[in-house]
Amino acid sequence: METIACPDCDLLQQLPELPPGGKARCPRCAYTVATRIADPVDHPLALTITALILLIIANTAPLMSLSAVGRHASTTIVGGAYEMWLKGEEVTALIVAFCAVIAPSGYILFMLAVLLAVRRPPAPQWVGELLRLADFMRPWSMHEVMMLGILVALIKIAELATVNPGIGMYAVGLLVMLFPAIMVSFDPGEIWQRVEWADGEAPARAGATGAEGA
Ligand SMILES: [Zn+2]
Repeated sequence: METIACPDCDLLQQLPELPPGGKARCPRCAYTVATRIADPVDHPLALTITALILLIIANTAPLMSLSAVGRHASTTIVGGAYEMWLKGEEVTALIVAFCAVIAPSGYILFMLAVLLAVRRPPAPQWVGELLRLADFMRPWSMHEVMMLGILVALIKIAELATVNPGIGMYAVGLLVMLFPAIMVSFDPGEIWQRVEWADGEAPARAGATGAEGA
């Protein structure tokens, strides 16, 4: 049993161990105080591996190709940022590279390391640090903003040139949907429960539920 305060009405209450997939509601205001995801490691792990494959495709395959008056050009995300750098837009190029390449890659790689490490509890302490880093990278992953920008640009230049979306564009589109799916299927509290304590002790209840971090 764990004592928690309801985030909505502050009622202190004992939280029993929830069954996988179970939810606990506050007895006073019916707010959902804790949820236990049915498969807190393997489900997000499968989604993260899929995201990693799509991320590699999104960064190596052309985003789109343009044809106008007999000339043809295509570019990738990194290629686009590099072009900006060459044209003297260094700050914009760095922001694009960070939000479209570095932050999403960092988030996926840190999540992958965390999820692989916690499959066999107790997880080493560095898992906690990586989890914090992943949390830092997540808000900076802005594929959906980039996607919107590209769509607006496409509509504007569609009259002047023939535009063909590349494989990279479809990969980015799928990533836009995968990132929220990973977040929904992932429970940081479950991970913290599996991390080895600072004094070298193993967690008391590996795989037990936790409202911490929620
Ligand atoms: Zn309440």
